[in-house]
Amino acid sequence: MPIATMPALFVGHGSPMNLILDNTFTQSLKKLTKPFPTPKAILVISAHWYDTGTFVSYAPTRELIYDFYGFPQALYALSYPAPTAFDLAQNISKKLNIPMKERGLDHGAWMPLSFLYPDASIPTIQLSINQKLPMSLHVKIGEELQSLRDEGVLILGSGNITHNLGRIDFQNMDATPPQWAKNVDAFIERAFTCHDNDALINIEKLCPDFKIAHPSIDHYLPLLYIAGLVRKEDTISSILPFFQNGSLSMRGFLVM
Ligand code: ZN
Repeated sequence: MPIATMPALFVGHGSPMNLILDNTFTQSLKKLTKPFPTPKAILVISAHWYDTGTFVSYAPTRELIYDFYGFPQALYALSYPAPTAFDLAQNISKKLNIPMKERGLDHGAWMPLSFLYPDASIPTIQLSINQKLPMSLHVKIGEELQSLRDEGVLILGSGNITHNLGRIDFQNMDATPPQWAKNVDAFIERAFTCHDNDALINIEKLCPDFKIAHPSIDHYLPLLYIAGLVRKEDTISSILPFFQNGSLSMRGFLVM
């Protein structure tokens, strides 16, 4: 039987509190993957592996990274024991000519996956984001990974399209979003759904509020890899169109 081409997905992960909440975001994530073919493996590009090079991970011990601080103890007791995907890591290492690193999944990966694939049975690895690369090369790496979609690999970008920790209302998840956050959210929605990669790459020049939305661009960059995975024949859908904690856009995109 031929292997079905896998969709590609970008999700906002928001506050780690979502891990223990039953809200519109977590309920929507639970339903999102229902129509997908079952992936052979998952490759995650998470904002929380922002490094000095491009690396691919493998994690034989299935240990998680609890890279969030000051949250209720219950969050640190959660587990997501997905097997690693050593063969896929080797394949990506060769394809991109990059080193492999032993590393567990960070919360940018295991948090959304806890809702998308709660039984943690699908082999999962991560690709790091090289902080030294210009925006255009993040898209280029996405393009180089396109063929993995035909090999049963689900590629998931996990960040947030607006993310300024200093402007988040941590007390109120339902706070009203400020205008700058709505502007950036609207700019990115248009650019991504029109497959306008030039606008996504040059967003710092084109979108005046981008700097407020991203004092550092780690949470924006995962989107660029997913933009690189889009092919002409794909349908792009904007998903989860809402904000949390005031300025945090939870908008995601589904490419299939
Ligand atoms: Zn994050």
